[in-house]
Amino acid sequence: MSTSVMWFRLDLRTEDNPALVRAAEDDEVLPVFVIDPDQWARAGAARRAWLAANLLALDDTLGGHLAVHHAPAAEVVPQLAADAGAGSVHVTRDLTPFALRRDRAVVEALREAGVEGVATGTAYAVAPGSVTTKGGTPFKVFTPYSKAWREHGWDAPVGAPEVNWAKGETPAEVTEMLQQAVAECPIDLPDAGEEAAWARWTRFRDEALHDYDTDRDRPAVEGTSRMSLDLHLGVLHPRQLLEDIKDKRSTGAHTYRTELAWRDFYAEVLHLNPHTVWRDLNPLDMPYDEPEDAIEAWKRGETGYPFVDAGMRQLLAQGWMHNRLRMITASFLTKHLHVWWPLGAEHFLDHLLDGDVASNSHGWQWVAGTGTDAAPYFRIFNPVTQGQRFDPDGEYVRRWVPELEHLPGKAVHTPWEHEDGYAKGYPRRIVDLAEERKVALDRYEKARRG
Ligand code: FAD
Repeated sequence: MSTSVMWFRLDLRTEDNPALVRAAEDDEVLPVFVIDPDQWARAGAARRAWLAANLLALDDTLGGHLAVHHAPAAEVVPQLAADAGAGSVHVTRDLTPFALRRDRAVVEALREAGVEGVATGTAYAVAPGSVTTKGGTPFKVFTPYSKAWREHGWDAPVGAPEVNWAKGETPAEVTEMLQQAVAECPIDLPDAGEEAAWARWTRFRDEALHDYDTDRDRPAVEGTSRMSLDLHLGVLHPRQLLEDIKDKRSTGAHTYRTELAWRDFYAEVLHLNPHTVWRDLNPLDMPYDEPEDAIEAWKRGETGYPFVDAGMRQLLAQGWMHNRLRMITASFLTKHLHVWWPLGAEHFLDHLLDGDVASNSHGWQWVAGTGTDAAPYFRIFNPVTQGQRFDPDGEYVRRWVPELEHLPGKAVHTPWEHEDGYAKGYPRRIVDLAEERKVALDRYEKARRG
């Protein structure tokens, strides 16, 4: 009888998982997940809980057969394979710098034990390296990449294979660690697992996809899919979403496909430039300020700028922030507070349930003006006019900043113009926008001239 190990990582699903399809060619499959102790210790409580909830849901789907271990993968994976008498270990290829380092060590240990390591598929619709310019070089900017991405297309989903699961054992202390992480989660989590993710998707597809093109920029409206949470852990694969809307011709569906292309693009850029996890793709010799108290006010959502504060509070309360607010809060930190972007990116990664090194670091660099498709250095989001434009009735701000709920309509965006603006304890502005904009522009101009 042949046995293989299916080592789940960022592909916590049974549907459309090509690595699992390969593993299922063996008579019996041992399902395994390994929690890296360093990563677990570094992750914020909500992120740990989201992973734990999805592991418990996967275990349910697998009839309680999933073995979860809390140890370095290079130690535990070869050992589990040897104990199960497995001839191969199957994974979905993970291309982040951390994963590549980890996998090199595991493959080495497997080879010594005479076990084959087999990588099939990636977490992307179009895997890094699949599309190039006519000259065969990688794309440096998004628009031509996205055109080639569409022309390349993606494979059809492969469905869920019939699997004869071997019973994996999760040590009691690991089960307890997972249950405790969920029980102590500081925020309300969405329902976890494939079924819940698919239900979230179909609700978005049926109710919001058509108007996505316009509603995606209105944070008060549930106009985006929130699929980032499920895509990040691979509970759903983008191929499944793309396949599901392949016949939809609305502008909303077109824009949605483009957004999924951004995810693949940033994964490719990071794969080709692994140093850009925490460093600039296109460095600018810019002086930054020591963060001191300002960054703490930003993290708490107490900068005195209502749109920024609403975004930062949504992050703390939901482990998710609307894309428009990610741009505005990142711009405020880097350009009005002059703080180096990795400090903000680190805070996002601590709290975002969808926190993903490629999209996060390159989202930040897009804003800071040092990444690919860099926003021109002179583009500095004004959080007041952005609020008035994208939250015209002030609904989003009032939802997250209760100290301003007495202000009607768009008055919430300018409490300093209203007699009772500070009546409920909303903090005063920590900086002057116009002055700090000028400082940022002067610094950028000097850096650009070298
Ligand atoms: P939707 O609007 O429904 O979009 C659908 C999907 O397309 C998303 O789930 C996501 O997978 C992809 N997508 C959309 N916009 C982008 C984008 N700009 N870049 C890459 N992929 C995109 N996204 C993350 O998944 N993880 C992160 O850690 C992350 N950090 C970010 C940090 C900054 C500073 C910025 C500006 C953006 C960041 N993004 C990140 C991108 C984007 O904000 C989120 O993907 C999006 O808000 C998730 O919500 P949604 O699923 O409702 O998006």
